[in-house]
Amino acid sequence: MIFDSHAHYDDDAFNEDREKIILGLKDKGVIGVLNCGASLEGARRSVELSSEYDFIYSAVGIHPEYAGIVNEEVIEELRNLAQNPKVKAIGEIGLDYYYEENPPRDIQKAAFKLQMELARELKLPVVIHDRDAHKDTLDILKEFPEVIGTVHCFSGSVEFAVECLKLGYYIGFTGVITFKNAKKIAEVAKVVPMDRILVETDCPYMAPEPNRGKRNQSDYIEFIIEKISEIKGKTIEEIENITIFNIKELLKINK
Ligand SMILES: [Zn+2]
Repeated sequence: MIFDSHAHYDDDAFNEDREKIILGLKDKGVIGVLNCGASLEGARRSVELSSEYDFIYSAVGIHPEYAGIVNEEVIEELRNLAQNPKVKAIGEIGLDYYYEENPPRDIQKAAFKLQMELARELKLPVVIHDRDAHKDTLDILKEFPEVIGTVHCFSGSVEFAVECLKLGYYIGFTGVITFKNAKKIAEVAKVVPMDRILVETDCPYMAPEPNRGKRNQSDYIEFIIEKISEIKGKTIEEIENITIFNIKELLKINK
């Protein structure tokens, strides 16, 4: 069984067949999905999806790519959306220095901090997006010691992972771990304790081998679990059980 800790079923890539895909997931062993908003519209649609399907939960937040829109009014709308009982986290939020056309770093940091404050206020975990911004991300996480969450699609070093673990964060593994030459992330998987591992699609992106390049969906996580079971020397069932336990623990589901 699978719990996808990071998906974007609100994405336009699913416009043609969203309902069919989502309904099909249950037959393929997917028992839970955390759908993460990226834009304000995405956050709204994420909450709608989680209201429509019992096994979908939502996170609301503004991705660093859209950091320029974050102001008190937007924070207020996120606060209101988070009143819905299916909203289990604030995300995805963070820093992305990879694309030059992204908002300036100061604007990204300000938007990130405002949303970390919201998470602290609402006592919700966060879903962190960090691309080529490990140092600044870590500095901001440290400013909010009461907040925990997941560093989604983890792309840092073992040292960075250790720092995140110390702060109480979980580490999210995507299909990247199944790619040939994915040595760095395999090293990270070796050191992350079992009780901090999460699995995720980041669909429609990041499809694992053997489906690399195709549109991703939550049941493909079986290939990520297979790879982690090899790395950790555990059975597939053990990895399935612990990753489901971990995400439910983080999102406070069934408590
Ligand atoms: Zn994402």
